[in-house]
Amino acid sequence: MLSMFAAMTSHAGNARPASAMAIAEVDQNMCQAMRDTGVLHKNAPVSCAQLRVVHFSYLGLDGKMHDDGAVMVMAALADHVQAIFATLLQRKFALAGAQLMQHYRGDDLAAMRANNTSAFNDRAIINGGAPSLHAYGAAIDINPVQNPFVQFEAAGKASYSPAAGSSYANRLAVRPGKTVRKGMAEDVVDVFAEHGFLIWGGDWDAPIDYQHFQISRPLAKRLAALPIVQAKIVFNDYVKNYRRCAGTKRTAAGLENSRLAKTNTVKAECISTADKP
Ligand SMILES: [Zn+2]
Repeated sequence: MLSMFAAMTSHAGNARPASAMAIAEVDQNMCQAMRDTGVLHKNAPVSCAQLRVVHFSYLGLDGKMHDDGAVMVMAALADHVQAIFATLLQRKFALAGAQLMQHYRGDDLAAMRANNTSAFNDRAIINGGAPSLHAYGAAIDINPVQNPFVQFEAAGKASYSPAAGSSYANRLAVRPGKTVRKGMAEDVVDVFAEHGFLIWGGDWDAPIDYQHFQISRPLAKRLAALPIVQAKIVFNDYVKNYRRCAGTKRTAAGLENSRLAKTNTVKAECISTADKP
C-alpha cells in the first residue's frame, strides 16, 4: 500500500511531507527516476519495494534549521535511521545537506564534492567489484568534506575525496586556540552504533572512510533475503543485543576513554587570547 507521504512526495515533485520526519515508500515514479539516473541497475541486491525514503529535519552547517533532509535506506532499517537523524538534531550535530542520489545521477564523487549526506546508491565498492553496502541501502555517508575518503599510494601519499576534505586530515574537532569544528563523524559514532550501524570507516587503516557508517555485509545480505516484516524483527533483535552488551561493557570500562578530548576542551575554554596562535 502506498503511504500518504509517498503519494505526496511523488506527485508534487520536490514537495515534502507535512511532517519533516516521515518514512515514505519508493513508488513507481521514483523507482523509474532511479533507473533513469543510474542509481538503480538490473540485478541490484534490493528492489524499490525493499527501500524507504527517510525524511528528516536537521541543523545545517549554516546554523539554521532545514526540513528537506532525505536518505534512502533498506526498509528494515528505516525506523532506526529515522531515530539516528532525530538524535543528530537533538545533539545539534550539523549536516551540510542530504539529498537522494538521483539528484547527483548516482555520481558519488559529485555528491562528495557537494558535501551531500546520502545512503542508497547501487554501485560497487571503490577499487573493487563487490556491491557496496550502499547498494543494499545499508550504509550512510555523512558530511563528506568534514569526513573524507582517504586512499594511500604505495609510497604512503594520501589522496582525499573530496579534495576539500584534506582540511580535515587532522581529526580533532576541538583544538586549543582554534574554532571548534562541526560535523565530524567522531562526534556521532555512538549514535550510529546504538542503531545497529556498528561499522565506521574511520576505524579502517587503508583506505580510511570517515564519512561511512554501515551494518555488516552478512547481516545486510540476510536482511535483503527476508520479507520486510521478518527483516525488521531480525534487525531490531540485533540492535537490542548490541545495546545490552554495550551497556555492560560501558559500565565496566568507566569513563576513561576520551581523556585527550576532555583536556583539549578545557584548554580551548581556558586559553587566554594572548596565547592564541
Ligand atoms: Zn560510504
